[in-house]
Amino acid sequence: RKQFDIDSIRRDFPILQERVNGKPLIWLDNAATTQKPQSVIDRISYFYQHENSNIHRAAHELAARATDAYEGARSKVARFLNAPSTNEVVFVRGATEAINLVAKSWGRRHIGKDDEIVISWIEHHANIVPWQMLAAETGARLRVAPVDNDGQILLDEFEKLLNPKTRLVSITQVSNALGTITPTRQMVQMAHRYGARVLVDGAQSVSHMATDVQALDCDFFVFSGHKVFGPTGIGVLYGKPDALADSPPWQGGGNMIVDVTFEKTIYHAPPARFEAGTGNIADAVGLGAAIDYVESLGMENIARHEHDLLIYATNLLKTIPGLRLIGTAKEKASVMSFVLEGYKTEEVGAALNKEGIAVRSGHHCAQPALRRFGVETSVRPSLALYNNYDDVDALIAVLRKLKSNNA
Ligand code: PMP
Repeated sequence: RKQFDIDSIRRDFPILQERVNGKPLIWLDNAATTQKPQSVIDRISYFYQHENSNIHRAAHELAARATDAYEGARSKVARFLNAPSTNEVVFVRGATEAINLVAKSWGRRHIGKDDEIVISWIEHHANIVPWQMLAAETGARLRVAPVDNDGQILLDEFEKLLNPKTRLVSITQVSNALGTITPTRQMVQMAHRYGARVLVDGAQSVSHMATDVQALDCDFFVFSGHKVFGPTGIGVLYGKPDALADSPPWQGGGNMIVDVTFEKTIYHAPPARFEAGTGNIADAVGLGAAIDYVESLGMENIARHEHDLLIYATNLLKTIPGLRLIGTAKEKASVMSFVLEGYKTEEVGAALNKEGIAVRSGHHCAQPALRRFGVETSVRPSLALYNNYDDVDALIAVLRKLKSNNA
């Protein structure tokens, strides 16, 4: 493909031909999940037609094919994150499971009474609740870095929270409720000065910008396959070798052992140590195909296209009377959260759905983030690489019509 050819890219996603309420589907719910290109759908189907087997254990042709496909996907993930080694890539169910793994494994070993865990005000519930559970269990304290009125982290306030008791900082790279791109790199540096480990939640960033875990220097990085054009039920925990080595197994079973007797079990090194039982082999392979797909377009090209579209859409949203944008940081990706005077958020969602336009309206599993701005719910269109200017124009037209009905 010569340029970032949006028409040709759209043809890669069969679901974009779907009609909803007699209208062509306009998918603007990418922060919830992304659609799948034909290459991902085909790759999963190919796996079940030609390669399906359990991995590692059996010594036959299909086991070898399945193992190669699964480990090949792990290599693609390592490349995608710029991780130095495939041993640093653990397959899990998704971002939620990855964070819970770190909390239950690394966290239980390294976080004790009166230790501190720092998160931010704009985290997804998946990056709040596991730490609350850990704090309740260990007597540790959860501290929350505030944001300014645009929804950006107040770095000075964040730094004030850090002290020698800080064991872990767990922050999102992009907020799913506001779209804020946080100053992740600086936060990692600050946290490391106090000897804390840092987990970066990449669930909302990996599909919108290039990821480089070495440049970020984070200790853990998590994401979900389904938000980067891959299947549901597969996700990734990246960990620095020493951080993973410092983490005990969290689930026991097959695959994760070297030797078992009734007296003693010897565990595998990471990543196998964290992959007890039969994993989601086919969907890991599908995730590998999704990574091939975005890399074929180029993450830089995707980021540029989405950035232009986000600015275009934001400027149009600002022209709608009575529309209040929530999350107005300078550094943003994909997400436009808003409320519209005179309408409940679910009414706006329903009006858009009538025109075939899918957006999320609700609390987006980030209640503290929205409450920071005095609302319980918002309407949340969110962009991905296949969205175009027509999608945005259609969104704006419905909102304008709602406002004129209500004038
Ligand atoms: N973190 C963020 C920032 C998210 O947006 C999401 C999904 N909305 C998650 C974590 C959890 O991802 P999953 O539900 O795929 O585990």
